[in-house]
Amino acid sequence: RSSTMARVDLDGNPIKPITICMIGAGGFIGSHLCEKLMHETPHTVFALDVYNDKIKHLLEPDSLPWAGRITFHRLNIKHDSRLEGLIKMADLTINLAAICTPADYNTRPLDTIYSNFIDALPVVKYCSENNKRLIHFSTCEVYGKTIGAFLPKDSLLRKDPAYFVLKEDESPCIFGSIEKQRWSYACAKQLIERLIYAEGAENGLEFTIVRPFNWIGPRMDFIPGIDGPSEGVPRVLACFSNNLLRGEPLKLVDGGQSQRTFVYIKDAIEAVLLMIENPARANGHIFNVGNPNNEVTVRQLAEIMIQVYSKVSGEKTPETPTIDVSSKEFYGEGYDDSDKRIPDMTIINKQLGWNPKTSLFDLLESTLTYQHRTYAEAIKKVIAKPVAS
Ligand code: NAD
Ligand code: UDP
Repeated sequence: RSSTMARVDLDGNPIKPITICMIGAGGFIGSHLCEKLMHETPHTVFALDVYNDKIKHLLEPDSLPWAGRITFHRLNIKHDSRLEGLIKMADLTINLAAICTPADYNTRPLDTIYSNFIDALPVVKYCSENNKRLIHFSTCEVYGKTIGAFLPKDSLLRKDPAYFVLKEDESPCIFGSIEKQRWSYACAKQLIERLIYAEGAENGLEFTIVRPFNWIGPRMDFIPGIDGPSEGVPRVLACFSNNLLRGEPLKLVDGGQSQRTFVYIKDAIEAVLLMIENPARANGHIFNVGNPNNEVTVRQLAEIMIQVYSKVSGEKTPETPTIDVSSKEFYGEGYDDSDKRIPDMTIINKQLGWNPKTSLFDLLESTLTYQHRTYAEAIKKVIAKPVAS
């Protein structure tokens, strides 16, 4: 559509088509980014991942209007000699590959550390050596806990934004002790951020670091027993969707008191496209990408999802809508949690003029409509079928 119109960047300069090496393109964020790039830009994508189920609709048939602009390369960046060649052939590398599901952090701590730090090292090195721009996906979790979490429970300072708003260039990174292996993920992400920053400082690497704050929407993770392992534990959106689809109570970990801000994937992808197309404004920066207006406790998230799901499915709300579970029972030993995550938006606002648009209610309505349409029939079939012995 707009690929034939002259597209300009934020400074009014025409945007030249580029080639992007996207690692982890088959995941949740990658699938939305590929879709955006194919629908609205003239750019070419090398899509690297071990899976392509979430981007199949963009890869075939050959008659798609963007055919030839996206190619899938099935590879594991841990051990594949094609990686350097693909980075060299591209103008920009975007690294999304990671183990990034909390259920894995304390149960597969080694894989978590390797995936988020060691496996990302060659990507950074190849970009630096070949003078290629890098957009690396980190996480809001590098902030860890808020300063306010350590104040007495009744302290009025807990209400002062100075004690909880997370700022890229000012806030400290506060993690729990080593046996709380939840923080191995955050720590690995922090060290790769520091390494990328150092490559920029010492060797002139052109980089942008993205810190997503709970991006959610269609195609996030999997529904256990349908398009993922029955015993698997995805992130909260998919856990709660699964419970709703099956008519089960939603499980609130440690009372569901932790707070999160949720941003709609489609809003967040707009921010990434601005970074891709405005390198002079994005290079050398770390960006929070989230929606500070969409804050809820996990308990409130559950309550809204129950209400919205009932609206989109036409089903009655269950008699026992939620149950409490301990984190030890749900995630195992070594789990811990981020208490509160409000992103400061000053830097992304100033550099890219980006703001999130979609309210929590609206984003849940479109996402749960998608979940219902995609999974309700399949769930009915598994529930009706006696388990094979
Ligand atoms: P995702 O799990 O859906 O996507 C990651 C993709 O990387 C998967 O498709 C996976 O197969 C691929 N991958 C992992 N290891 C690989 C390897 N060795 N070789 C090739 N491919 C590999 O997760 P997502 O939500 O799309 O997250 C993308 C990035 O954003 C991650 O770095 C994550 O830490 C970060 N992030 C996301 C959120 C969020 O709100 N979704 C929040 C914080 C950080
Ligand atoms: N959570 C929950 N029930 C679930 C899944 C998650 O109460 O079925 C909680 C989890 O303990 C955390 C929050 O929801 O406090 C968000 O979890 P998620 O896995 O989405 O990732 P996080 O934001 O912690 O990285």
